[in-house]
Amino acid sequence: MSKEYWIGDVNSGSHDDSKVELKGWVYRARGSNKIWFMVLRDSTGTVQCVIKRDVVGDECFESLSNALIESSVIIAGTVNPTDREHGHEIQVSSGEVVGPVNPDRPFPITESAMTESDGGETEFLLDHRHLYLRTGRMTTMLKLRSTVFGAIHSYFRDRDFIEYQAPNFVAGAVEGGSTLFEVPYFGRKAYLTQSWQLYAEAAMPALERLYTMAPSFRAEKSRTRRHLTEFWHAEMEIAWASNSEVMEHGEGVVRHIARKLLDERSEELTSLERDLDLVARYADSQYPRIRYDEAIEILQGKGVEVEWGQDLDYSKEKILTADFEVPHFLTHYPRVAKPFYHRPDPDDPKYVLCHDLLAPEGYGEIIGGGERTWSEKEILERIEEEKAPMEAYEFYVDVRRYGGVPHGGFGLGVDRVCTWLAGAEHIREAIPFPRDSRRVTP
Ligand code: ATP
Ligand code: MG
Repeated sequence: MSKEYWIGDVNSGSHDDSKVELKGWVYRARGSNKIWFMVLRDSTGTVQCVIKRDVVGDECFESLSNALIESSVIIAGTVNPTDREHGHEIQVSSGEVVGPVNPDRPFPITESAMTESDGGETEFLLDHRHLYLRTGRMTTMLKLRSTVFGAIHSYFRDRDFIEYQAPNFVAGAVEGGSTLFEVPYFGRKAYLTQSWQLYAEAAMPALERLYTMAPSFRAEKSRTRRHLTEFWHAEMEIAWASNSEVMEHGEGVVRHIARKLLDERSEELTSLERDLDLVARYADSQYPRIRYDEAIEILQGKGVEVEWGQDLDYSKEKILTADFEVPHFLTHYPRVAKPFYHRPDPDDPKYVLCHDLLAPEGYGEIIGGGERTWSEKEILERIEEEKAPMEAYEFYVDVRRYGGVPHGGFGLGVDRVCTWLAGAEHIREAIPFPRDSRRVTP
């Protein structure tokens, strides 16, 4: 049953003038009583199939010309190179419908459903997400996404990082209680993890260089263009490393992703109208580092009302990054703006040794990371300072009690990186089944 021929190969000319059997779905169709033009799609592309009544016979002609959009079909024919839009054409000799579409329920995702809506993302399309996945735009996104995932794995594996998994049910917060998902857990409360980090730190003395790619969960109440309640989080942790060394890996992995996309997916990027020169710039440039205090000055210079000590939310990041030509690191946030695990700067403990990587073009934060508080004394002070529940963090303090060492790491939002590098408007466009405060279906 498996496939021997792919439409992508037909279009690249590797089967010119030969007989092929194509398996796929009806993408578009039109014609007359004598000749029928069926555009067939598979996961690799589309090709026009020319079906003539006097060649295939009445029965076959009726069956194929009655196949509605998204019916699955098998077509046999000869590949003809043409100078038309699709470049190649199949002269059909025979064919059959495998999975017909009931005329009472035609495929609901039509061109007009997609263009009437704002960027193809109305509630209607979200309700039919399982079918929307087959559209060209979404299929392209899923391919880019796969390349991004592969690039993250190869970056870390090529540098001897060990892939390591942490539990998803946890007892404590990493990123603050307000976005914790609580789940009943046999008469107790548990939470869905917001990050792999705390459990990665526990393995840091064992593995020294580790990474993961896994979902993180955050009960983000407001729906924004950049937040999901379930997102894919690429995280790394490294022993004996400073904030600056952690940033080198952040820059390294993002540049590597951009490079892989250019090498493997430039056609797909172009089909999404992404400017390849921009992506090349992100792959080739160095990412400047500026301190939080400078960012505040820049913002205030632009007339933005912002006070020292505030975390920068998206409204500020958007303004800050609108003029950036390449991603920028923002370092040294005020201690009051960050959770307890961030290490205070020994030179000026008002600040912590941390960084966010902000993507240009107004996209904003894609990475958050830094050095971790690593001495027992300091972590106990920080937990106390934030009134965090000590019980949940006992194991975390133990990591410091038994041979603590300087270490750090970061978390990269994979869906955000896909959104940005694809030039998409909304994070929903970059994940197959987006989850937000209003939607867990389909
Ligand atoms: P933000 O301030 O933008 O909400 P954050 O500072 O809470 O993000 P971190 O805790 O630093 O995020 O998480 C690390 C990375 O994970 C972020 O830089 C971002 O790329 C990604 N991320 C965080 N929250 C979400 C979310 N709700 N949806 C998608 N990606 C997210
Ligand atoms: Mg952050």
